[in-house]
Amino acid sequence: MLNPSYREGDSMISTANTELAAQADRHLWGHFSSLGRSIDGMPIIERGEGCYVWDNKGNRFLDGLAGLYTTQAGYGRVELAKAAGAQAETLGFFPIWTYAHPKAVELAARLASLAPGDLNRVFFTSGGSEAVESAWKLARQYFKLMGQPLRTKVISRDLSYHGTSMGALSITGLAAVKGPFEPLVPGAIKVPNTNSYRMPSWATDESYFAEEIEQAILREGPETIAAVFLEPVQNAGGCFTPPDGYFQRVREICDTHGVLLVSDEVICAYGRLGEMFGSQRLGYQPDIITSAKGLTSGYAPLGAMLVSDRLAEPFLDTDEQFLHGYTFAGHPVSCAVALANLDLFEAEDLPGRVRANEDAFRASLDDLADLAIVGDVRGMGYFYGIELVKNKETKETFSYDEAHHLLRGFLSHRMSELGLLCRADSRGEPVIQLAPPLIAGPEEFDVINGVLRQAFTEAMAEMAKL
Ligand code: PMP
Repeated sequence: MLNPSYREGDSMISTANTELAAQADRHLWGHFSSLGRSIDGMPIIERGEGCYVWDNKGNRFLDGLAGLYTTQAGYGRVELAKAAGAQAETLGFFPIWTYAHPKAVELAARLASLAPGDLNRVFFTSGGSEAVESAWKLARQYFKLMGQPLRTKVISRDLSYHGTSMGALSITGLAAVKGPFEPLVPGAIKVPNTNSYRMPSWATDESYFAEEIEQAILREGPETIAAVFLEPVQNAGGCFTPPDGYFQRVREICDTHGVLLVSDEVICAYGRLGEMFGSQRLGYQPDIITSAKGLTSGYAPLGAMLVSDRLAEPFLDTDEQFLHGYTFAGHPVSCAVALANLDLFEAEDLPGRVRANEDAFRASLDDLADLAIVGDVRGMGYFYGIELVKNKETKETFSYDEAHHLLRGFLSHRMSELGLLCRADSRGEPVIQLAPPLIAGPEEFDVINGVLRQAFTEAMAEMAKL
């Protein structure tokens, strides 16, 4: 146990830090991290305020990724801490299995009022993977009840990330994170993502992306397809935005073939794209929205699957139950935090703030386009990816080893040294991703621009040495 009085002297702090790092190294199994090598030497983040976090050595970082696309309202929000404390005092826990509690009810009604169209049923989970898992299971049970038991398969896109539980992982389109766990759930079909920067040479135009979904449905047999899972803007691969009309066409295709459209908004909901839901920003109506992360700004774990009235119908006034649930889903403390978080969204008009500032954010990233290493800047709202290339003219990308050196060997470390936390990702081509808290503004955009310009400039010199 660390003694808080260690804070009083520098040498004691440094001893405590060494001890903490050693304990982390020995005991904390970091997620998606190399065991024993990743924690030691990595910042141990201790506190946050606004858009900034501090590690336990006192270093300050601008959080360019909002935790993990999560801390929409920023750090140190006393309103959220108070809501959590008050609820813990009143009712620290109760499940929503055959019971309800006031905060879950209030939050469900509030989300239904905010959601597009008739998404009036809210099924809580503890996080994003569980929301995606729940959506696939609901789609399967719904079709069984509707007398279409063959509709079990799902379609999603190459490189997409939808979570880590076996169902969600099967929907995920990243071969590298799936390999160790195969065989996965059968019937998860993949189609191309909307990477317009690297359109395949055979594609005539961007309508190709949506048509590939219909081709996959026809190939598999429409009577076997339950749902299509798509993010409004695809995160993995680096913020692939849809071409104009993409989602409208996908909606049409789904309707033609009786397939459900699931909008996986674990990242894109709750203001990230400048509206409460990403599908609202892009103007389409999903049958299910899966969400998590920003719902509580991360102050407590919570996910929510928002379901259309139509899908709830076969469960109404019968003995049929959706045979699925999680102990901690709809936790009263998490629901209280989510309600307080939505109050902040309203009081500060966070989605409106994103819309008002997104052009300035984009411009501060486009400003880097004079650097030879910057191939493409893409995204919308407060959600951008910068693809780094070896040759700007030919769009030649880096080899696996070069990308590894560029991102892991150099940029990640250098950017954090310069005070910026963001994602350096190589699932697909190498990209740097930015998704700051929604309270960020021009001052933070300037910091991001300055750090990236310096780090990218140094990275070009570093890569020239290879
Ligand atoms: N879907 C999407 C689109 C995501 O980005 C994520 C997480 N980044 C998930 C699902 C899984 O969410 P969680 O990590 O909360 O399980």
